[in-house]
Amino acid sequence: MPDAPITLLRVGSVHTPEPVAATEILLAGGRIAALGQGLTVPPDWPVVVVDEPDLTAVPAFIDQHVHVTGGGGEGGPATRCPPVPAEAIARAGIATVVGVLGTDGISRTPADLLAAVRGLRAHGLGAYMYTGSYRVPPPTLTGDLQTDLAWIPEVLGVGEIAIADHRSSQATDADIARLVSEVRVGAMLAGKLGICHFHVGDGGSGLNRLRTLLATTEIPARQVIPTHVNRRPALLADAADYAMRFGGCVDVTAFDDAGPDDITADAAVRELLNAGVPAAQITISSDCGGSLPVFDTAGGYAGMRVAGHGAFLADWQRLARADVMPFARALDLISGNVARVLGLDAQKGRLAVGMDADIALLDTEFVPRATYAGGRRIFSA
Ligand SMILES: [Zn+2]
Repeated sequence: MPDAPITLLRVGSVHTPEPVAATEILLAGGRIAALGQGLTVPPDWPVVVVDEPDLTAVPAFIDQHVHVTGGGGEGGPATRCPPVPAEAIARAGIATVVGVLGTDGISRTPADLLAAVRGLRAHGLGAYMYTGSYRVPPPTLTGDLQTDLAWIPEVLGVGEIAIADHRSSQATDADIARLVSEVRVGAMLAGKLGICHFHVGDGGSGLNRLRTLLATTEIPARQVIPTHVNRRPALLADAADYAMRFGGCVDVTAFDDAGPDDITADAAVRELLNAGVPAAQITISSDCGGSLPVFDTAGGYAGMRVAGHGAFLADWQRLARADVMPFARALDLISGNVARVLGLDAQKGRLAVGMDADIALLDTEFVPRATYAGGRRIFSA
């Protein structure tokens, strides 16, 4: 891919996520080279000047749960979801994704996922993956969780491991402890955090497996991220208690098909905050590309839709418009906090000199009108 152009971006305002006086950002070598006002560039530099006086620059969004290969398959081969195109991701203001496998860990493999992730990178996006799938023990790229973590740069951890779900492997506490410790050691050898991303299903056991893990082992809470915690009120209350007791992060899903029991992401964030969970311990992800299977009361498959990024944006925009938290903290839910929990915060999640030039340009309704990833404009409205 050719180098990203040197770009002088002039905008109406900049939130780093904090509001700052700057209205100009110089992008060079894929990074933010300068941030300020009245920036000057040597006359012989091949600079592209972009004027967007009506738009606000914010850190581009990071989505840590995207079925980039397409999820699904719970209703047989005809119900496998299609891959998520790079354009659909960029259009949502997202510059970085973490790809994930779900129920299907046989026709979708970690190798398939790695190829899809590298395809997104070739389109300019930042893209990472979790090795594994719902299953325990998880499928891997190299035959071993530790070597997946150690030798594959794109692998940030394992996931989404299903717990409290009829599609899970019904892993025991000991199975989960062994899995997480394998990821921990592989990640240490690789210099990564080693995220264990847990799909929490509708089962009554909720977060019990994770509570036992953190209460009975030396595993730090920052290695564990439960997701879909807003799928029903009792689970959300369980997640609030878990976050405060262990200091861990909880990930809220912007359900594209929010049903009667589901809590929208914005409502879930409000409830977590009301329960006393610090905003820094909350993230939002999309589950984009996942199937939205419908099961009848006997657990039989009854139909499917494919999740997109519609709710991810709509739920977050509702939150940003409501006066429940400073705009900077609302941005953190889908950028700064996500970068930090994934161990990517040295380069992503903030607009500052030296950081990756990952920028979303929002209009006054918080709708993304352009997305930059690594200094390249990968989406324009
Ligand atoms: Zn899931």
